[in-house]
Amino acid sequence: MRSIPRASAFWNSFCEGLASLAYPPKCTLCGVAGLPAICEECRTGFPAADRLEDLGEGLLVWAAFRYDGRAAQSVKRLKYERATALGRPMAELLVASWRQSGLAEPDAVVPVPIHFLRRCSRGFNQSELLAEGFERRLVRPELLRRVRPTRPQVGLSREQRSRNLVGAFRASPAVAGLSVLLVDDVLTGGFTMRECANTLLEAGAANVAGLVFCVEEPATGG
Ligand SMILES: [Zn+2]
Repeated sequence: MRSIPRASAFWNSFCEGLASLAYPPKCTLCGVAGLPAICEECRTGFPAADRLEDLGEGLLVWAAFRYDGRAAQSVKRLKYERATALGRPMAELLVASWRQSGLAEPDAVVPVPIHFLRRCSRGFNQSELLAEGFERRLVRPELLRRVRPTRPQVGLSREQRSRNLVGAFRASPAVAGLSVLLVDDVLTGGFTMRECANTLLEAGAANVAGLVFCVEEPATGG
């Protein structure tokens, strides 16, 4: 019976081979064929941020890139054009940047949740894909849920943005005592990160830090 796993591995690679004939691999950003999902040239167009943003009240967020150039393009492609092939290479870039932060290893990595209805229409949560660069045992999306749909933060005043998110999230009691790293795609005004952190801390998290793929400058949204 030992031949069965080998046979299925053969069929898997055979099917992958057929798929790559039908859909030749290409860079998701520039479209050049025969390259990984993010080619080397596009990779050089990701403007590094590699810095800690201090959101106040002890909340530090590590930003990997500035929301510009190929980095901004990759976020938009992933989120709005469902280019999920970008998820894995973006997650790897995000973790590589995080390793430079010098911050302590978290007990749990928690993607900023989107509401169930938005997940149904988009088909995935981009922040969950970005968290996949961490060890699987650390990634705990079940610890934080978005229990209320919210209006998009763009175009709202500071006060409206802050109020828009109140009560939008609910944390699991299982977060008690854990050191949590929140992961999101873009940091704009920091309101979403702040509200998520407060929700986790109120549920007993020992401490919360953030990690974002891009930071928008100047801060304008959510
Ligand atoms: Zn490219």
